[in-house]
Amino acid sequence: MFLVDSHCHIDSLDFTDIHQDVKDVLTKAHLAGVTHFLCAGTELETFEQMYNMIAPFEEVFAACAMHPENVNAQNINWSEKQMKTYLQMPRVIALGETGLDYICTPETKDLQKKSFERQIAIANELQKPLIIHARGAIYDCIDMIYALEARDNGGVMHCFCDDIDAARKALDLGYYISFSGIVTFKNAKNVQESCKYVPVDRMLVETDCPYLAPVPKRGKPNEPAFVSYTAKFIADLKGISYDELCTKTSKNFEELFKVTLK
Ligand SMILES: [Zn+2]
Ligand SMILES: [Zn+2]
Repeated sequence: MFLVDSHCHIDSLDFTDIHQDVKDVLTKAHLAGVTHFLCAGTELETFEQMYNMIAPFEEVFAACAMHPENVNAQNINWSEKQMKTYLQMPRVIALGETGLDYICTPETKDLQKKSFERQIAIANELQKPLIIHARGAIYDCIDMIYALEARDNGGVMHCFCDDIDAARKALDLGYYISFSGIVTFKNAKNVQESCKYVPVDRMLVETDCPYLAPVPKRGKPNEPAFVSYTAKFIADLKGISYDELCTKTSKNFEELFKVTLK
């Protein structure tokens, strides 16, 4: 049985006090039954460093993109050629994370849109699925995906924190929806409602570590092993077995990113 952490930031984990190295992180995850990982990119500048960290471990995939929070007036003309080169590296299975964030960085809204538009075009050209980061901006993300005809390669709304209406529209788009530790938070009723609504065959699970550790680790630094708590919570919420949740979300991962887990 597989369980995939479909979105993590292994390169941002604490290698001073908490983990010895990437191998140590993965060993802890494997002990918790977490078998595969997707390490999401957040900027071009640090991509190679991230890729080199995960490259020795064949169970770790990568994605490359410019995160909306990292877009600014200085880097808005980031190199498309560079991004395309990275996206064609062997373990890079998606363009992500990209999208729009109107909550953390509302001041760069227009720049974010411009950057997102260019990334959608690249995903279309290279036929890569998209990993979407949408905060306070899910409808704008969906509108742009329709407008730029980016539906065919598929994608995922990562760290979903919107309501059922937004979930329905993301599903209509043909996208998967990924739930992070937020779904386990007591006050995240709307996310729990969305999670009940989204069919298991359209769902992924993730940590987005080192952020957003699920209950019972809430408030502590997050790590890939903890996706097992989120998966358990969701299985209970949906009244299905843990095995079924793991099996179906792993199959979804394979379908969306066109990989075979082994
Ligand atoms: Zn994100
Ligand atoms: Zn992320």
